[in-house]
Amino acid sequence: MEIESIMANNALIKAREGGGGKGRSWKWKELLRFPHVRQCMDLAMNIERDYFSLCVRQPIGKKLFQLFCRSRLDLHVYASLQDALDNFETKSDEERREFGISIIQRFLIDLHRYLSGHPFLQYQDSMFFERFLQWKMLERSPITKHTFRQYRLLGKGGFGEVWACQVRATGQMYACKKLEKTHIKKRRGESMALNEKQLLEGLDSRFVVNLAYAYETKHSLCIVLTMMDGGDLKYHIHKLGPPGLDSDRVRFYAAEVFCGLNHLHQQAIVYRDLKPENVLLDLNGHIRISDLGLAVRLSEGNLAQGRVGTVGYMAPEVIGRKYYGMSPDWWGLGCLIYEMTAGQLPFRAQGEHPKVSEMERRIQTEKEKYDAMFSIEVKDICSLLLTKDPEQRLGCQAAKEKDVQSHPFFQSINFRMLEAGLVEPPFKPDPRLVYCNDVQDIEEFSTVKGVSLDQTDSDFYSKFNTGSVPLTWQNEMIETGCFKELNLFGPQGSRTPDLDW
Ligand code: ADP
Ligand code: MG
Ligand code: MG
Repeated sequence: MEIESIMANNALIKAREGGGGKGRSWKWKELLRFPHVRQCMDLAMNIERDYFSLCVRQPIGKKLFQLFCRSRLDLHVYASLQDALDNFETKSDEERREFGISIIQRFLIDLHRYLSGHPFLQYQDSMFFERFLQWKMLERSPITKHTFRQYRLLGKGGFGEVWACQVRATGQMYACKKLEKTHIKKRRGESMALNEKQLLEGLDSRFVVNLAYAYETKHSLCIVLTMMDGGDLKYHIHKLGPPGLDSDRVRFYAAEVFCGLNHLHQQAIVYRDLKPENVLLDLNGHIRISDLGLAVRLSEGNLAQGRVGTVGYMAPEVIGRKYYGMSPDWWGLGCLIYEMTAGQLPFRAQGEHPKVSEMERRIQTEKEKYDAMFSIEVKDICSLLLTKDPEQRLGCQAAKEKDVQSHPFFQSINFRMLEAGLVEPPFKPDPRLVYCNDVQDIEEFSTVKGVSLDQTDSDFYSKFNTGSVPLTWQNEMIETGCFKELNLFGPQGSRTPDLDW
């Protein structure tokens, strides 16, 4: 190669290596000296004041706008969102999912920090907030039996009957669980009834029935719950065709029950009464856990000890009167998966009715049997959940519920989608059918005689009788369309600010 060519190449290569300012002229700052601001006046007058052009499209414009945002406390949130979005652009498709979720979470925190400041103060001075107060007044109206229309009897529980009912004002259907005052008193069920109502009040999960109202009538205390029209799992396992459910349904129900249990456990609540009867289907085929009568909230670091539950479903540590945390519920999930698969309980043969003591002996000492109905995964998860020693049981070790969730049995379940209610159930109840025993086949509820109610009872009733539960009530207004139809403003609306406010 000619010497000139070599030198020319070398010069180019050297210049290329420059980068990061190395190839700059020594008087670069002079070359790029800012004109005095006064000299920009003409430009300032003439430049097009277009937000997108000035603050988004032009790279330096964007940077300066970001610096401006950063300089103002109230605009920080936009700056950090912009940074995160820029960063998002650089990620690969696989990374984007996780990263996108983290952006949304962080942005929401920032957004709320911003909105809770000045905008929140302004909101409280606006007509929108006045309207909110009007809704709150409606929400707090007293609830009586006249709030509802009553339909058929759905089932029977320990303290009374469960009826289908409908809110007159909105048309929303609910299930009303009536606890008879005399029954409660006779069997000292006060704290149990109050416990169930108070636990339900604090929960908000798509896998646990919601409490909508708590009120009293002359003879009963009523808790009004999410209507579950699709029947309970006991009915589906035992009353429709040969006992048991197909494996897709077993997996799906087990996964949704897992989510419900997990929600309870996160609030330090042990459920203690998992059995097919207490798992209810809605008309879309999703399930919710119901009947929190035996559930208990453990206070910080404490364990429970009650010998409670239903014979056949009680865990060995419960039967043995040991102290326990959440372990009985994982045992219960084992029983449930077993019963859905085999059509019968682990320690009881078809049609057999052993004595309670015999049932308990088997639970504490015998190994359950698996027939050909059980695939490898189902058998494996059942035997891990039905481990007698709670310390060795799946779900009770260091990783807790994570071990249950990541078991191969649940491999095909996308728990994030499931939690968001986005998984299509494998079975949809027929909306023309009523999935419960015929009204005349539900035993009539016996009346208790010789129990009189007094002042201490009234004190307890008033603790119970708290009316609407805000979250559920507000959802009812929105879901039934009442919110949209009533929440009108201005001259076209039926409620003009001038007339009604
Ligand atoms: P108990 O605590 O006395 O066992 P439950 O809450 O389990 O009472 O209710 C008894 C029965 O009533 C259930 O097995 C079910 O058949 C029916 N039931 C209860 N809650 C609902 C509901 N939300 N929707 C439809 N049916 C229900
Ligand atoms: Mg029950
Ligand atoms: Mg109960």
